Amino acid sequence: MSRTHAAVVGTGPNGLAAAVTLARAGLRVELYEAADEIGGGLRSKPLFDSDVLHDICAAVHPMAAASRFFREFDLAARGVELLHPEISYAHPMDGTRAGLAFRDLDATCRHLGPDGARWRATMEPLLDRSTGVVDMLLSGQRRIPHDLRAPFVLAPRVLAHGSPFAGGVFRTERARSLLTGVAAHAVGRLPSLAAGAVALLLGHLAHGTGWPIPRGGSVRIAQAMADDITAHGGTIHTGRRITDLRELDHAGAVLLDTSPKGLLQIAGSRLPARYTRRLERFRYGPGAAKVDFLVSDPIPWADPEVGRAGTVHLGGTQREMFHQETLTSKGIATDEPFVLVVDPMTADPTRGLPGKRPVWAYAHVPNGDTRDPVEIVRARIERYAPGFTDTIVAQQGISASGYEAYNPNYVGGDIASGAMTLTQSVLRPVAQADPYRTPVPGLYLGSASTPPGPSVHGMSGHLAALSLLRREYGVRTAPSLAPRS
Ligand SMILES: Cc1cc2nc3c(=O)[nH]c(=O)nc-3n(C[C@H](O)[C@H](O)[C@H](O)COP(=O)(O)OP(=O)(O)OC[C@H]3O[C@@H](n4cnc5c(N)ncnc54)[C@H](O)[C@@H]3O)c2cc1C
Repeated sequence: MSRTHAAVVGTGPNGLAAAVTLARAGLRVELYEAADEIGGGLRSKPLFDSDVLHDICAAVHPMAAASRFFREFDLAARGVELLHPEISYAHPMDGTRAGLAFRDLDATCRHLGPDGARWRATMEPLLDRSTGVVDMLLSGQRRIPHDLRAPFVLAPRVLAHGSPFAGGVFRTERARSLLTGVAAHAVGRLPSLAAGAVALLLGHLAHGTGWPIPRGGSVRIAQAMADDITAHGGTIHTGRRITDLRELDHAGAVLLDTSPKGLLQIAGSRLPARYTRRLERFRYGPGAAKVDFLVSDPIPWADPEVGRAGTVHLGGTQREMFHQETLTSKGIATDEPFVLVVDPMTADPTRGLPGKRPVWAYAHVPNGDTRDPVEIVRARIERYAPGFTDTIVAQQGISASGYEAYNPNYVGGDIASGAMTLTQSVLRPVAQADPYRTPVPGLYLGSASTPPGPSVHGMSGHLAALSLLRREYGVRTAPSLAPRS
């Protein structure tokens, strides 16, 4: 039997990106996935009704629209349509109009009135250098950026929006809370420099390459990647959990799309004690607790404009979000946590039918939280959309601890696979020059627990694969990822 050059454990976006890269370089690749379906964070399924598709994890794809891996892979050329809602995200507020981030920057600035000029001053320079900013942040973060001006555009804005003085940048609560809702995607203490960087990355993309929703669900992205792997000779085994590195002794090299906890479980006995101790010190962040709803009607937002947004942030004022997110990051449960809501049918009419619509929502909760989130999330939506409860046909919750049972990479429900503190967003999983390499010869880590961290960008897997190709097979030129005509 011919030898497997590389085994990839896990088929999340990073495992798939790694396998695409390795197979494109001419390696014989085998993938092993514990679940019965590929995709990790990219699965979509009907949950209550065969006509209605729900995204189980990721739903909205600003990073897939912008990252270097996906720019080269070219989802559109492979038939994956990224659909853009007119409003990228919205932030409902009590008793007044919601904050709205239109895809169109000018429309957003007009909407923000007295803060319009400040919003433009924050976002426009980032948009002008968007590719440089994206490639700097979505990288291994060990090299000098290609666009040398990108750090100078980004750094002062991160300091302004990530420092304790962040409250003073905008004059109106509408603009303050609109951007703070984006900072909350870092799922940790607020304000913080790491969250400031996340706010500016995602915030400017909302007016650039956008916050799109794939037609037919996130699973379409995973399928396109799997098709490319098999077309280049790769083999995918599902329902196959790897528990010990010895199961992969037939492969020339191994790349794990797992958390550091998974790396310790699979390769622990072969890892040097010092590296083991460093992995054991890796910190996991707060958890996510998700609720899927099947509803009969569009969400009856008190401000109807919110219904044109793909993503909705429910967190109240900036001060309230700072308070709630900081408590959650300290492990203290709150009754009114930050909640993200996605109504995929704002962009993709194929997800449901008249009278049957999916609603995707999750709350930030302490790591390991075991509470059923259904009531907390339902009440949070009802507050800003009175009458929502009457539209619910079916609902299903998954607690933070339940997420780890669903996918071992989400330790304690941490969907970022590692706390996004300033240090750990760069030095993940440990501080070393090549973050993807482990001390075990031929063994690499390429999941969201490595730079550039969480989200569907494929860059952690891609960069880990490039490291493997260079060190194990002497391949120094990155293979083309473009679709073959
Ligand atoms: C509720 C939720 C909402 C999210 N929303 C978004 C969003 O809207 N946009 C966005 O960009 N990101 C979002 N994310 C984050 C995103 O899904 C993750 O950052 C991303 O999927 C990480 O990719 P990964 O390949 O590193 O790991 P994962 O996607 O977690 O995949 C890891 C895979 O490895 C498998 N595996 C683990 N251990 C083993 C083993 N021992 N043997 C075999 N297989 C194994 C797992 O079963 C899994 O399939 C969300 C995540 C969640 C949970």
